[in-house]
Amino acid sequence: MALSVRSKPYIIPEYSLTGDLLSYLTCGLQYRYQNKGTLPPAMPIQLWFGDFIHGVMEEAFIRWNEQDWKDFPWDWETQIRDIELEVDKRMRSRGLQPPANLFCPFKAGDENQGLCPDSNHPHKLAASIRAEAAINTWGPHLFPLIDDSEVKLKGIRNMPHYAKGRSRSNYYGITGIIDVLSSVKLEEASDRNLIIRYLHNNPAFQYKLENLKKPEYEIIVDYKGMKRPPVNSPSWRHHGWQVLTYSWLRDMQPESSKVLVGILFYLNELSLFKEDLEELKKDVEDAQTDVKPYARDLENILQWNPHSKPPEISDSLKKLRSIRIIPVEYDNQRKSLTEFDSVVADIEESIIKEVKGCGIQSSWKINPEKRTCDACDFKTFCKDNAARRRFPTVP
Ligand code: SF4
Ligand SMILES: [Zn+2]
Repeated sequence: MALSVRSKPYIIPEYSLTGDLLSYLTCGLQYRYQNKGTLPPAMPIQLWFGDFIHGVMEEAFIRWNEQDWKDFPWDWETQIRDIELEVDKRMRSRGLQPPANLFCPFKAGDENQGLCPDSNHPHKLAASIRAEAAINTWGPHLFPLIDDSEVKLKGIRNMPHYAKGRSRSNYYGITGIIDVLSSVKLEEASDRNLIIRYLHNNPAFQYKLENLKKPEYEIIVDYKGMKRPPVNSPSWRHHGWQVLTYSWLRDMQPESSKVLVGILFYLNELSLFKEDLEELKKDVEDAQTDVKPYARDLENILQWNPHSKPPEISDSLKKLRSIRIIPVEYDNQRKSLTEFDSVVADIEESIIKEVKGCGIQSSWKINPEKRTCDACDFKTFCKDNAARRRFPTVP
């Protein structure tokens, strides 16, 4: 009797929009080492912080919703700190340790000094300064508008350049997580709500509102642990694609209403540190930012010298720069999907090359941008000479 050969398991590769596709676009080789490596989990600072601040906003919303914590500002030591420790605990359980000097992981009374300046814990380090600013700036305006938080999105697309026997699958899955604001909540909110004011000042949103066929609509929201990128940067484009792809995924969920716009919060704009300030100054000098500072803010930013103390920036500019409203248009949505299809095609191509034995460094594309390479755990053995030359290693 001839024994039949067991067929290969049918697997549809699944890609998360931020964890895989945007991460790959930052640098393919870094993505490979981070996500598919046998190395212990390592995570560049920006990625750790992105996950952390996302978790902090989600957890803060849950506490606002379920507890009697409706008044802002929240106190860091007695309210926000507990949220941070909870998020840190969850991240550690996924193997993600906080980067040194960014976050104090200790409770008061802990005698271990760790990498903190002394053993007087807890220390409000950079991640905590930003978490506090994010919650206290946007919490009062955003939380009352959220109708559904941490909504999981999932869709299936045809595998680009599918070839039987060569491709891993004829489909791929695409996933994401968003918060959803509903028209009902927006109508109930106070007219002092800053997000509503920004939306009403946005011509694209106004136009869409006036031309609605049904009264219900939605806005989707995501958070970025970074400063607002310049308009000529790849990140600016990629974030736009991300939101538009989310809107496509959301539209397919039966309980959804029409998504009019997406909002991204660039939370680092609320507390800019030296490197961000240098980038902001450059964006202003090069006329590459869409939210420009005026008058006093402009003067302070342009006259600032990186060796002196940080320039004063008005709260109104910080808030305005930390919110980006992206109109959802059919054509742009299609374009974003095609763009991500080609990113998936690239990743799949690299996987196939590696499986065929081409070696990791030859199979994966690199994208050596100074700021990414500076924070990259793999720079010491990265193939890119330019990247290596910048980081002399101890002999
Ligand atoms: S050092 Fe730069 S080019 Fe090399 S893997 Fe890291 S991010 Fe990519
Ligand atoms: Zn500490």
